[in-house]
Parts: sequence; structure tokens; C-alpha cells
Amino acid sequence: MTNNQPPPTTTDAGIPVESDEHSLTVGPDGPVLMQDHYLIEQMAQFNRERIPERQPHAKGSGAFGRFEVTQDVSAYTKAAVFQPGTTTDVMIRFSTVAGERGSPDTWRDPRGFSLKMYTTEGNYDMVGNNTPVFFVKDPLKFQHFIRSQKRRADNNLRDHDMQWDFWTLSPESAHQVTWLMGDRGIPRSWRHMNGYSSHTYMWINAQGEKFWVKYHFKTDQGIEFFTQDEADQMASMDTDYHTRDLFEHIAAGDHPSWTLKMQIMPFDEAENYRFNPFDLTKVWPHGDYPLIEVGRMTLDRNPTDFHTEIEQAAFQPNNLVPGIGPSPDRMLLARLFSYADAHRARLGVNYQQLPTNAPRVPVHSYSKDGAMRYQKVSDPVYAPNSKGGPRADTARYGEPAGWYTAGQMVRSPYKQHAEDDDWGQPGTMVREVLDDAARQRLVNNVVGHLLNKVTEPVLVRAFEYWHNVDKDLGDRIEQGVRAKASEKDPKAAEQANPARSAAQAKA
Ligand code: NDP
Repeated sequence: MTNNQPPPTTTDAGIPVESDEHSLTVGPDGPVLMQDHYLIEQMAQFNRERIPERQPHAKGSGAFGRFEVTQDVSAYTKAAVFQPGTTTDVMIRFSTVAGERGSPDTWRDPRGFSLKMYTTEGNYDMVGNNTPVFFVKDPLKFQHFIRSQKRRADNNLRDHDMQWDFWTLSPESAHQVTWLMGDRGIPRSWRHMNGYSSHTYMWINAQGEKFWVKYHFKTDQGIEFFTQDEADQMASMDTDYHTRDLFEHIAAGDHPSWTLKMQIMPFDEAENYRFNPFDLTKVWPHGDYPLIEVGRMTLDRNPTDFHTEIEQAAFQPNNLVPGIGPSPDRMLLARLFSYADAHRARLGVNYQQLPTNAPRVPVHSYSKDGAMRYQKVSDPVYAPNSKGGPRADTARYGEPAGWYTAGQMVRSPYKQHAEDDDWGQPGTMVREVLDDAARQRLVNNVVGHLLNKVTEPVLVRAFEYWHNVDKDLGDRIEQGVRAKASEKDPKAAEQANPARSAAQAKA
């Protein structure tokens, strides 16, 4: 074989095959023989190529790069990955939430922003989104929320009535729904959106001092969005537009980057802060906790095999390294379990041995056996032991990243802080952050969404929901829906709202 010649094809066992083109038959026109084990291997392997898609976040893609610390935040965390001058390899996966693996990239939806940092203290994962808040704040509602956004049982169709039914019966969703229906609900590309931890985490410094923190990865490309019309057109022109955009820019050497900035709250301020700082439906206003710069993430390498590097990538927020811990955010605490469990179900119990997920540091765990394990274990297989097996370094790592807690077991909402309610922060966004044009696009997007087969009782609740966010916005949405509905079907509109129809007739 010279250097220019491709290697000979082999079976999966490495045996050279006889042909890439012709099955083994009895004479040129005779039956195919079962002993053509290469043909059978090809057919059997093909039948097993697909693995279960993620539930949710099925559609996405990703890339590799590095995170460089440019500032000194050692006063807040001892995590090696955030010490001055440190550079760490990273993998990221972007995704939509509700769509299936082949769904359009430009559907209106939050985007996943999942990061794995291969640090010197093991893998650190941040399973974030392009939004700083979320639809629900209690994990018991998460599964119901996702089902309401996906497909009905009877016709297997997505259903706006189901979406609004859930949202309007869950007023804590108002902040995220306002965000979703605005410009940022359809980013122009993954390069043109921010990533947020959304959750509050804990940072611990070398002296053992604790802080509550939120991560903001700000795009260096600038925020850009698609209007609903642009996104609808793109969905039919190029279903995989965001996937293609990322791949092509990295391939062309145009490497996207994000600047990581943190909000940092001293530990003791949480108790009396005006918002419950662990409530995932709230932000910490920048005026209260300004952004503190940490470093920059740059993506500079595409996958060469999407399946092994991205589809089999497994991110889990319980991968927290020394110097970083969880917080009392209930959604986060439940995700610490559910993500790893999802990977065990989707990829198998030894998924962390796959090269894309494997840490770059030696693993000395007591996990053993299971399907597809290929890293060898050695005796002793139990702890404690007197046979030289790994021992926890409790003197160095023994202090849990925790907080004081005691109380009666209850099923209740979070404790309300002075300014906690479901409508205040989305109202602030509508009135103080959006300009007139962005507010009008928000109205148009909501009106268009509500006009898609949302039933009358749910519509009435939706109008009330938007009135609660902002009275003027609610009026404009209600008028927009009623006007468009009566254009389409004047009789039905009158039956739905006789008082308004009479008033309109008078006017
Ligand atoms: P600021 O004026 O300091 O910040 C407002 C933030 O809103 C901006 O920094 C920007 O976030 C974000 N923003 C701008 N346009 C849009 C849009 N079309 N859709 C969604 N977000 C947008 O005000 P506060 O910090 O006091 O927050 C006011 C309101 O802004 C909040 O109630 C919340 O709804 C929203 N917001 C706040 C964030 C926070 O972490 N404090 C983050 C995002 C939104 P960015 O700089 O991250 O791009």
C-alpha cells in the first residue's frame, strides 16, 4: 500500500473483505447466501445506528474550544479552572428544547447552552440556556411542562392550546414566556446569543468563604435575532441553519467567542434579598449585582464525527469541581439527579468512558462492570480496604459545598421575599428594557401564536396573563387577537366576546 492509496476495507473484526459492491450469491442470478457474514454485519449494524434521542433538547450540535481566564476571581473561588491565566479545553452543545432530532433550528424556543470543561480537577459541566430564567421553579412541574410543549397523545401534533393551557395555569412561567415571545426567542444563530447558567450556584474560595453566583456568557458577536417571518422562511429553506452556521464559521477560521461575566452575591445577603435568589423564574437585576468579568470561551474546532463527539455527549450539572457547589434552587437540585440518569438510560451506564465525555484526569472510582465497560477495574473493589485502593482525601476535599438547613417536611412554595411575584420582572422587561419596535414585535408574536387554535377559555386566561404582565401590552394582545379572529370568522368572534363586539359595532 502506498501513501496515496486508501486502506483496504475490513469487517468490524479487522478482516479484509472481498468486495464493497457484490453480495455472495449462487451464480450471478442466484440466491444471496447467509454465509455472507460481511453483508449481514452491514445490515445488522445499519439497523442499530440510531440511539434514542434526548428528551428534551433532541436537536442540536456543538463544537470544541477553550476557556481562558483573563481576570483574577480567586477571591471568590478556589476552582482550578477559574484561577488566573488558566486555559481549559471545552466542549459545547447548542440545542432547541421541544423539537425532535430532525426539527428546524429556527423554531421559537429557548436554546440549550451546555458546556463541558475538561479541568485538572475533573469535568466541570454547566448545563445552561440562552435565557437567564425558566418556565417553572419546582421540578415536580418540569415533566408536565415539557409534555405540554411537545406532542398530543391523540394526533401526535404540537398544540398551542396545550402550551397556553399550561402556561396560563402556571403564572410563574410569565417571565420566561415574555422572553420567549420577544426577539430573543429566535436567535439569528447560536453565535449571536448569550448563555446563562440560569441557576444560582455556590463559589467557595481558598479560605472557605462562600458566595452565591450566576454565570453570564455574553456573545462577542453581538445579539442578533430572526423575526417570526424570517425564521418561518428559514425553517423551510434550511432546516439545519444554526447547525450549518456554526460548522461553517468554525471551518472558515471565524471562531466565535463569549466573555464570561459573573454576578456574585455574598453568602449572607441571600436571606433578605428582595427576590428569592434561588427562584429560577427571577433574575438578579444588574443594578443590585453588577457583572464581574472572568474570561473568554472560544470555539475553534468542529467535530469530525457528529455521533461519537456530539450526539453521545453527556452533560450533567452534578459535575461540580472543588470550589463550586449547588444552591437551594430546587430545579437545580433535581437536575443533579435527572441528567446523569437520562444518560444512563440513553447511552448506558458507562457513558462517562466514551472519549467525548471522559475526563482528562485519571479516574479512581469504585464503579465496576456494567454494559460496555472497557476501562479495566482492579482489586480491591471495595472501600475501606487495607489493600492500597483509592482513599477519599477528606482533609483536602471533605467540606461539602453546603448550607445550614433544618425544618419540618412540607410540600409548599418557596418562601416569598419582599418583592417576589410572578409579574414584576416580566413587566419591567416589557416597560423598561424593550423599545417600542421590540414591544410591537412581542405583541405580534403573541397574537400570531394565540391565533393558532387556542380555545376560548384558554384565550381568556391568556389575556388576563398578559394584562398582569403589563396592562397596555395585554390590551394590545387582546385587541389584536379579537380583530384578527373577527376578520377570519365574524360570527365566532361575536359569540366569544359579545360585549366587545357590541361596543365595536356602536363605535
Ligand atoms: P438592565 O437594564 O441592567 O438589563 C436588562 C437586560 O435585559 C440587558 O442587560 C439584556 O441582557 C436583556 N435584554 C435586552 N433586550 C432583551 C430582550 N429583547 N429580551 C430579553 N432580554 C433582553 O436591567 P435589570 O438587570 O434590572 O433587569 C431588568 C429586566 O431585564 C429583568 O426583569 C429581566 O426581565 C431582564 N433581564 C435581566 C437580566 C439580568 O440578569 N439582570 C438578564 C436578561 C434579561 P444581557 O445583558 O444579558 O444581554
